[in-house]
Amino acid sequence: MASPASSTSKQRDEYCCVPFCIGNARTNKELSFHHIPSEKKMRTRKQWIVAIRRDEGEFFKIGGNTVVCSKHFKKEDYRWTPNRKCLKPEAVPSLFDWKLNESSRKAPTSRQSLSTR
Ligand SMILES: [Zn+2]
Repeated sequence: MASPASSTSKQRDEYCCVPFCIGNARTNKELSFHHIPSEKKMRTRKQWIVAIRRDEGEFFKIGGNTVVCSKHFKKEDYRWTPNRKCLKPEAVPSLFDWKLNESSRKAPTSRQSLSTR
C-alpha cells in the first residue's frame, strides 16, 4: 500500500517552537513542519537550537511535537521532488521575525504619508 503523501485527516498537535511564531499544524495547513534533528545529528540539532534562540532545559524540551514551521526556511533549504518538497538534511532555520525587526530598525524614520495630498 502506498503511504499517504499528505494526510490531513490525522489531527496533529504540532506547533512551531520559535519565539513569537504562532505556526500551528492545525490552523496553518499551508505550512509544513519540521522536527528538530535527532541527537544522532547533534551538530545540526545544535545549530537549530541556536538559530531559534532557545535552549533545552526546564522550560523547553524537545519532543515529538517540537517542530519548526516552514516560515523559517529559505527556498534553497528545500529540495523539490516531483510531488513534494523535502527539507535538506543540513538545512538550518534562518528566517525569523526578530531579524526583520533588527534590520528595519536601521531604516530612516522619514515617512512619505503626507506627500500624497
Ligand atoms: Zn514558525
